[in-house]
Amino acid sequence: MKPARFDYHAPERLDEVLELLADDEHDVRVIAGGQSLVPMMNFRLAVPEVLVDLRRVEGLHQVEIDAGGALEVGAAVTQARVLRDARIKDGWPLLHEGISHIGHPQIRSRGTVCGCLAHHDPHGELPALAVALDAELVVAGPHGRRTIPAEDFFASYYEVALEPGELLVAARFPALAPHTGWGFAEITRRRGDFALVGVACILPPGGEPRLAFFGVGDTPVLVTDPTAISESVAPLDDLHASAQYRREAAVTLGEMVVAQARERSGA
Ligand SMILES: Cc1cc2nc3c(=O)[nH]c(=O)nc-3n(C[C@H](O)[C@H](O)[C@H](O)COP(=O)(O)OP(=O)(O)OC[C@H]3O[C@@H](n4cnc5c(N)ncnc54)[C@H](O)[C@@H]3O)c2cc1C
Repeated sequence: MKPARFDYHAPERLDEVLELLADDEHDVRVIAGGQSLVPMMNFRLAVPEVLVDLRRVEGLHQVEIDAGGALEVGAAVTQARVLRDARIKDGWPLLHEGISHIGHPQIRSRGTVCGCLAHHDPHGELPALAVALDAELVVAGPHGRRTIPAEDFFASYYEVALEPGELLVAARFPALAPHTGWGFAEITRRRGDFALVGVACILPPGGEPRLAFFGVGDTPVLVTDPTAISESVAPLDDLHASAQYRREAAVTLGEMVVAQARERSGA
C-alpha cells in the first residue's frame, strides 16, 4: 500500500520545527530516518497529515563529547554514524555493540539513535541501552528545554514522556569510569530481527551491575540485583515466544552478561 496524502516540510531551524509541531489542529509528526514511520504509513497504521523532516535542521547533527566527558548524540544522527565513531567504540563500547545488532546496514544508514528512543519499541535495543547507560534525553518544546532520565522516559509500548509539541533533540550518555565492565546479549531468530529477549549490562567498578532487559515487558526493565531477574521481568506470550521461555532466557542471558562484565572490568 502507499501512504495517505500528507504535507511535507524540511525546515533548517529548530524553531521552525517547534512552530510546526505546535499546530494542534493537524496530526503533525517528525520524520527522522523513516525506518519505522514509513512502513507504518505504508500500512496506514500511521496517517500523519503533516511530516516535518529533521535531516536538514541545524544543531541536530552533533556527536560531541563535552568537558565533563558526556557524549551527546543529536536527533539527526544515524545509527551507522555512531558505529563508525572510534571515540564511541572506545568510550561507550556497550552502545557500539548494542547498536550493531539493530536491523541491517541499510536500516542503520538511515535510522537514527533518537528516532529509536522516541519510537520506543520495547523489543528494540536502544531504549534498554539508554537505561543501562543511565542516559538523559534532552527535549525541546513550547515551554523551553528539559532533560528526562532514560529510566523515566519510556512509558509503554510506543509511548514516551514527550508532551504534545515536544521534540527529542539529543540523547546524552555520561562518561563511564575506567574499568567499568559491560556485557550485551540478545536472542533473535535471525541476525537483524527484533530480539525475543535481550539485555545490556554495565558494571561500575566496585558497584552493583545495571542490567536493562528488553523484550520482557512494555518498557526496558532495570534490574540491579542479578538474583532477582526472574521476579523483575514481566514478559508476555506472543506469536514468537512464550512468557515462560522469555523469563528463563532473561535469567540465562542476565547471568551471562554479568559474567562478561566482570571479566571485562578485570574484577
Ligand atoms: C527491516 C527492519 C528491521 C529493523 N530492526 C530493528 C531492530 O532489530 N532493532 C530496533 O531497535 N529497530 C529496528 N528497526 C527500526 C529502526 O531501527 C528504526 O530506525 C527506528 O525504530 C526508528 O528510527 P528512525 O530514525 O528511522 O525514526 P522514524 O521512523 O523517522 O520515526 C519513528 C517515530 O519516532 C518519531 N520520532 C523520530 N525522531 C524523533 C525525535 N527526535 N523526537 C520526537 N519524535 C521522533 C517519529 O515521529 C515516528 O513516530 C528495524 C526497521 C526495519 C525496517
